[in-house]
Amino acid sequence: MAIKKIARNLCEPCSLRVGVGCPVAESCHTDAIRLGEEGFPYIAYADDCDSCFLCSLDCPNGAVEVSARMALPLLTKC
Ligand code: SF4
Ligand code: SF4
Repeated sequence: MAIKKIARNLCEPCSLRVGVGCPVAESCHTDAIRLGEEGFPYIAYADDCDSCFLCSLDCPNGAVEVSARMALPLLTKC
C-alpha cells in the first residue's frame, strides 16, 4: 500500500473543501482516492496507488500521507 492516510482533522476546516472542492481526488489517476459526503476525500482503492505523490503535492495542508511503493536503492560508495 502506498497511500497511507488522509488526515480528517486537517480536512474539516479546509477552505478548499468548502469552497472550490478538494483537489486531491482529481489528482489521482488511479482512482485510489474518491470524494465522499460533504467533499471529504477518502481512500477507496489503496492497492491501486502507484506513489506518484500528486495528491500530497496538491493538498496545501499536508493532509495526505503517501509512502514510496518500493524501497529506494541503497547508495553505496564507489
Ligand atoms: S485533502 Fe487537503 S485539500 Fe483536500 S480537503 Fe483535505 S486538507 Fe483540503
Ligand atoms: S500517490 Fe498518486 S496514485 Fe497514489 S493516491 Fe495519490 S494521486 Fe493517487
